Amino acid sequence: MNLTLNSPLDMHVHLRQDDMLRFVAPFTAQQFVGAVCMPNTLPPVDRADRLDAYTASIRKAVGDLSFDPYVPLFFRDDLTREELTAMRDRLFGVKLYPAGVTTNSDAGVAELGKIEPVLDILQDLDLPLLVHGETNGYSHDREREFVAVYDHIATTFPRLRLIMEHISTVEAAEFLDKHDNVFATITLHHLCHTLDDVLGGPFNPFYFCKPILKSPRDRDALQSLVKAGHPKIMFGSDSAPHTEVAKRTEGAAGCFTAPVLLPCLAEFFEDHDLLDQLQAFVSDNAQRIYRLDPPRRDVVLEPRTWTVPPRYGSIVPMNAGAHLRWKVQNAPEE
Ligand SMILES: [Zn+2]
Repeated sequence: MNLTLNSPLDMHVHLRQDDMLRFVAPFTAQQFVGAVCMPNTLPPVDRADRLDAYTASIRKAVGDLSFDPYVPLFFRDDLTREELTAMRDRLFGVKLYPAGVTTNSDAGVAELGKIEPVLDILQDLDLPLLVHGETNGYSHDREREFVAVYDHIATTFPRLRLIMEHISTVEAAEFLDKHDNVFATITLHHLCHTLDDVLGGPFNPFYFCKPILKSPRDRDALQSLVKAGHPKIMFGSDSAPHTEVAKRTEGAAGCFTAPVLLPCLAEFFEDHDLLDQLQAFVSDNAQRIYRLDPPRRDVVLEPRTWTVPPRYGSIVPMNAGAHLRWKVQNAPEE
């Protein structure tokens, strides 16, 4: 029997720019009717004109598919009330990268104490704050340490919707229920994998990402949230394409999961006898939390085994070579 999802959404994806954008955007737009497209481009999407230009370039790259790109503005600590108010009606939220912790985030915010005036404006304008929540500490502890920052922000700005992006730890999972205004996205790879997939055998660069994959205990905490149908979690793939050369020789962080997302999620939910909860995880929760009205389009998965190709263009996908049980109807073969 086919599996039909109503208006699935990917609440965290990297579509990049130029040729890469044109190549990867269709994988996302075929499986999802909308996506939160991250603004860590070069230069970052940190002003109204760049927001408009980037949104237009995504729309062009997906062609005729009904698809809404939701582009949050890259945080600047000199954002003013006038600037944010002027773009309020087309602004989805603001994305905060603490400085230097992930791809193209060197322009992120170094001193968190300096951000509070902007957070006050975001709260007043009811604009969500999306956060890559890691400190510059030891890699396995960065997110755990950052929970104190989340706590400070959520307490100081109780009406600000705070989204913890791509949570990967027990500590973040447990923190979710401490404040009404805190929500989270979870990726496919943090839900299904651990650091052993990177380092447990021969080094596998295609599972290397930030936040780094964690322990089985951390992964199980995320699985518990998903299995419980927690209403404050949303699917956000953090699919992040790099060329095979960049992955192998430059240590680029990020997993390209876009071509396999819904098939792998369907397997996970089916294996845990939860298929009836997939709709909430990939769409309903996000629509409620963000008050979205996305394009209405069904995405159908067929129970048909297929093999993930070794590469798409110059990019090696996650799960290359794996046999998957569900296939998205009308998805490209390669
Ligand atoms: Zn990301």
